[in-house]
Amino acid sequence: MKFLSMGKVVLRSLFGKPSTYGYPFTPREYPDTLRGAIGIDIDACIFCGLCARKCPTDAIEVNRQEKSWTIKRMQCVYCSYCVDTCMKNCLWTEHTHVVPDTVKQVDTYKQEPPEAEEEAAEEQLETPASTEASLGQTDSESAGQAETPEPQEGEPADA
Ligand code: SF4
Ligand code: SF4
Repeated sequence: MKFLSMGKVVLRSLFGKPSTYGYPFTPREYPDTLRGAIGIDIDACIFCGLCARKCPTDAIEVNRQEKSWTIKRMQCVYCSYCVDTCMKNCLWTEHTHVVPDTVKQVDTYKQEPPEAEEEAAEEQLETPASTEASLGQTDSESAGQAETPEPQEGEPADA
């Protein structure tokens, strides 16, 4: 009987589905509940710094003046405290881990000013020149209008 049960195990091992993955040749399939690398919607961030204060490994740095958010990827332990803390819901866990590397990966995300603000700033810079131009035009035009027209031949001088 022992021989038969051992034979079953041998056959299952030989022809059954392997219990291991052929990583790295076969990509790993992660479960839906995986807490992976931290992602951020930098445009929604208000740089309050709560996530950085909550992080147990000091993996996050927030710079309010420069409007930047930095994460030291190799320092993150995927606890997800930062995600739970963010009141703007701009952090989440990706469905993948950070790829192992020999260099410590540090990612910085910077908030750019909105296009409308940029355009307004550009307009402000252009305003003095355009104002001068328009003023110049107005002066010459008004000067031209102020000139009394020469009386034409055959026309009375005072009309
Ligand atoms: S808690 Fe959220 S809003 Fe505050 S700095 Fe972190 S990512 Fe930005
Ligand atoms: S998941 Fe945890 S360790 Fe990683 S950055 Fe967020 S708070 Fe820090």
